[in-house]
Amino acid sequence: MLIAGNWKMYKRASETADFCLGLSPPPGVDVVICPPYTSLAMAAASGVTVYAQNVHWASEGAFTGEVSAEMLLDLGVKGSIVGHSERRQHFCETDETAWSRAEHALEAGLGVIYCVGEQEEEREAGHTEEVLRRQVSVLQPREGLVVAYEPVWAIGTGRTATAKQAQDAHAFIKSLVKVPVLYGGSVKPENAQELLSQQDIDGALVGGASLEVESFRAICETAARLS
Ligand code: PEP
Repeated sequence: MLIAGNWKMYKRASETADFCLGLSPPPGVDVVICPPYTSLAMAAASGVTVYAQNVHWASEGAFTGEVSAEMLLDLGVKGSIVGHSERRQHFCETDETAWSRAEHALEAGLGVIYCVGEQEEEREAGHTEEVLRRQVSVLQPREGLVVAYEPVWAIGTGRTATAKQAQDAHAFIKSLVKVPVLYGGSVKPENAQELLSQQDIDGALVGGASLEVESFRAICETAARLS
């Protein structure tokens, strides 16, 4: 079971150091935190497993504002989130650019948490499987590749997919690509047990509830009990 905390654009280096001191990940579960770039070095120095939130597809070059897999590895970072819905929504990320990022990161030796998920209108129109099929079609199973199913309508909204909606989507994704699949979308200590008990849910990508060490630790402990 893998539990990853996506901090988005929160926490400076000093706050990161405090969080890592208080975390103590339980045995039997892989715990990852994904701080902003400016806090990666501090997090990596603490001994916690650290992923970035994005990574570029080139090793170096004229790409102002971007950071490469090799640069992340240099800091002791072990992987990266790729294709998060906020990148797709606000920064023109497409299935193709997301896979380019993921492919280079995997080749360079980083793990990748590759995000997919439908928007609310797409679910209401009955297009969830069509959207997931399109998003997953660019992926090739590789060592180190994990998918995160994150229905966009459940991210940061407090609305969680039901355990059945999540399980059905995970089973569908796994029928298309043989990789572990995390669930993401308003996971918190109160709903972690039900979600993580589903047969095809292999862990969670946690946003808001990963910002407080107590709630993140509680989710990690639930995962450890179920592992
Ligand atoms: C996320 O940002 O990936 C996420 C799942 O956020 P939240 O848990 O806050 O919905």
